[in-house]
Amino acid sequence: MARRRFGHEITRPGRKHGDEPVNIPVAKDLEKPPASLRRDQEVTFYAREYPLESFALEQSASVEWADGIRREFSPETAELYEEFQEDMRPALEWIRASGDLEPTAEPSGGDVTESIRGKARELGYSEVGFTRFDRRYVYKARRDDVRRGLPHAICLALEQEHSATQTIPSIEAEEAQGETYRRQSELAAALVEHIRSLGYRAQVSGPTWQFGPMIPMFVDAGLGQLGVNGQLLSPHFGSRARLQIIITDARVSYDKPVDYGVPKFCEICQVCFMRCPGRAIQGQRLWYRGVDKAKLIAKRCRPVMARYSGCGVCMKTCPIQKYGMKPVMEYYIETGEVLGKGTDNLEGYELPDKGYFAAGKLPRFDTAFFDMPTGRAEDHLMEEFQSKLDAALDDAEKDRLWREYRERLESIMQNHSTVVDMGMDLGVWE
Ligand code: SF4
Ligand code: SF4
Repeated sequence: MARRRFGHEITRPGRKHGDEPVNIPVAKDLEKPPASLRRDQEVTFYAREYPLESFALEQSASVEWADGIRREFSPETAELYEEFQEDMRPALEWIRASGDLEPTAEPSGGDVTESIRGKARELGYSEVGFTRFDRRYVYKARRDDVRRGLPHAICLALEQEHSATQTIPSIEAEEAQGETYRRQSELAAALVEHIRSLGYRAQVSGPTWQFGPMIPMFVDAGLGQLGVNGQLLSPHFGSRARLQIIITDARVSYDKPVDYGVPKFCEICQVCFMRCPGRAIQGQRLWYRGVDKAKLIAKRCRPVMARYSGCGVCMKTCPIQKYGMKPVMEYYIETGEVLGKGTDNLEGYELPDKGYFAAGKLPRFDTAFFDMPTGRAEDHLMEEFQSKLDAALDDAEKDRLWREYRERLESIMQNHSTVVDMGMDLGVWE
């Protein structure tokens, strides 16, 4: 491959508060206007006609199933998730009620964007951006929980520890993820206090309880672009970014989307697509709910995640995650190649029962591995009940099946606090 023509340069604040800004070059052949990656009217249409719902509710059948598989296959991971859920409970309650907190001062009336950005950076958030809060990305069941009159979104990305992440899939990486969420909840409390001291209200989305998907607003705020792995590729640490949004009525100015060259770079890279153990990633993008994206095949991903500590190979093998966007884009301009592609250092991973998979090698699973219930747990239970009822031999057995069905349905309907995976919404619904 040959050297690429330079297109444009992006200047971003340094990774940590006080660091020098960094310049990221984008090759000419990677340029693509961010506006061409979204059809706004389609986003509105889908949000109105087919509102988004959380995985914890919409796919609750597989959530229950995954919990059982995880306990059998990796009891340590199941234990870790349970501990995490218990540890996070006070933070979760605080996050859910954060919108009720009153301001602690009168607003000055001036623009407070830089005050909030500076405070967030000082606290430890590496990426901070401002945009309109897009209500089209609120889960249907959360609509009443999101406070009205807070029209602006502060997008905040916190870095997850680098070395533990490179051991994915592993308990160590899951612990690092959990630790990042714990930090997020502490930092959000401090930032909300700051916003209130400026005379404004704020409500927090994430960790563990969120309004809905966050990536579209992070893209709008210029903090990265959507990768083929379905994750936000942010400038300093790619998808090793844990995301959080605070909505507010504070007077702020919006940032703009940035062309980092990610969509076209992904077309050339394709490492996550080739390395996914479940073959759950589609290498090519398509239009989905008004967004140009590579849609993940959940029924091929979830069985892998349930068995292998939340998997995450698609994060681990992304060069932008491992090396950062600047070196990756510089290397591409110099060589026309993807930094680390084809090396075991980037692409190798280990699955506990299957061994090590060097670049070019993939595990194999039989069809039964991917058998998984889909849809809502109550619908799946009904289907199961109907087929058992059809096969029942006598009335006594039918009565027993009815009782069993009712008990299980009651338990599903009461189970409003389900561990999905460490990275996902805990599924608290009331
Ligand atoms: S989490 Fe694992 S199985 Fe799922 S898409 Fe990523 S690499 Fe594939
Ligand atoms: S691994 Fe490559 S293709 Fe996948 S998200 Fe990262 S840059 Fe894009």
